Amino acid sequence: LVVLSNVNKHFGALHVLQDIDLSIARGEVVVVIGPSGSGKSTLCRTINRLETIDSGTITIDGKELPAEGKDLARLRADVGMVFQSFNLFAHKTVLENVVLGQVKVRKADRAAAEQKARALLDRVGVGSQADKYPAQLSGGQQQRVAIARALAMDPKVMLFDEPTSALDPEMINEVLEVMQQLAGEGMTMVVVTHEMGFARSAANRVVFMADGKIVEEAAPEQFFSNPRSDRAKDFLSKIL
Ligand code: ATP
Ligand code: MG
Repeated sequence: LVVLSNVNKHFGALHVLQDIDLSIARGEVVVVIGPSGSGKSTLCRTINRLETIDSGTITIDGKELPAEGKDLARLRADVGMVFQSFNLFAHKTVLENVVLGQVKVRKADRAAAEQKARALLDRVGVGSQADKYPAQLSGGQQQRVAIARALAMDPKVMLFDEPTSALDPEMINEVLEVMQQLAGEGMTMVVVTHEMGFARSAANRVVFMADGKIVEEAAPEQFFSNPRSDRAKDFLSKIL
């Protein structure tokens, strides 16, 4: 469904993504882990072209992502993104946050968009918060709104960049549970996370990045019990 082929990107002299080849099948859940600065966020951001790339190709459902233009906006809407910092519109209600993209990008009818928004908010467990503003919600609730907002666009793939890293510990599970549920429903997902429990239980594949490269990829049970590379062994010894 998502294919990155020989993708390279630089930030000035820094070669932040080096010859990235990654192919994600429909319904697959890929967890990306690796040390700070290894390029995990940049990888996510290139998948929906929040960052440009220097060379290589990215295709989503068989269509190559263009560098810019109208087609890009449309194709980008197929990729839902959830960030560490929620990024909700602070001056819009929870409901409006989930309605907006449907109306503006998907050209949905407002009544239908509201109905869908309420259903999605119910699904992630924050239906009763629809008329509040983001600042009136807990971090875990805000992040679940962000997930509902992304889902409202009917994305083909969902990207999560450390979705629980900014949360207090007691709120982490409520967000992971929503993600686990999505995974169980067959959503294609790329998840950057330090939550190894989630990686073990939800991932089909773990991708380990270091210094802008994919160093190793394997099924979670294999990766955690028997990492092949020294970089991965070293990383795991620090976090497990
Ligand atoms: P973390 O685990 O800390 O989130 P990461 O693996 O997500 O790290 P990235 O955020 O992708 O890492 O950053 C990879 C490298 O690119 C880092 O060295 C970072 O400083 C650099 N970098 C990221 N964004 C930019 C930017 N906009 N301009 C210049 N350098 C950048
Ligand atoms: Mg990051």
